Amino acid sequence: MALRNIVLKDDPILRKTSRSVLDFDKKLSDLIDDMIDTMYEADGCGLAAPQVGILRRICIVDVGEGPIEMVNPVIIEESGVQEEAEGCLSLPGEYGVTRRPMKVTVRAQNRKGETFTVSGEGLKARAFCHEIDHLNGILYIDKVIRKD
Ligand code: ZN
Repeated sequence: MALRNIVLKDDPILRKTSRSVLDFDKKLSDLIDDMIDTMYEADGCGLAAPQVGILRRICIVDVGEGPIEMVNPVIIEESGVQEEAEGCLSLPGEYGVTRRPMKVTVRAQNRKGETFTVSGEGLKARAFCHEIDHLNGILYIDKVIRKD
């Protein structure tokens, strides 16, 4: 395991669309382990592969329940609305309020390629949406409705 560098706001990689993961190999497993270490080191609750310079559809979220690893994640259900402050490890020190669904269900694969679904509410739902947006080159600042 190793720490990776987190790319910052102006890096054009953050605006690119990530490609699907097709190979569930040791390289993927090592990358996910590195992403988890990097997220904890940076004290974040989520991290997406483009943030460590890899344009692949992989993200991790931990809102205090242990890490959830999502490969090729897709939001398959969402409901409700929340407006809460959001930040990003690639934009240190910045915050803004976004509008997100209150609950989402994500279908993804784990590092072995097995499909699972996971649901989240509140912060967890926000983290899922935020990280999956990264895979499509979207940053939360695109969705800020106010700064307070
Ligand atoms: Zn982010």
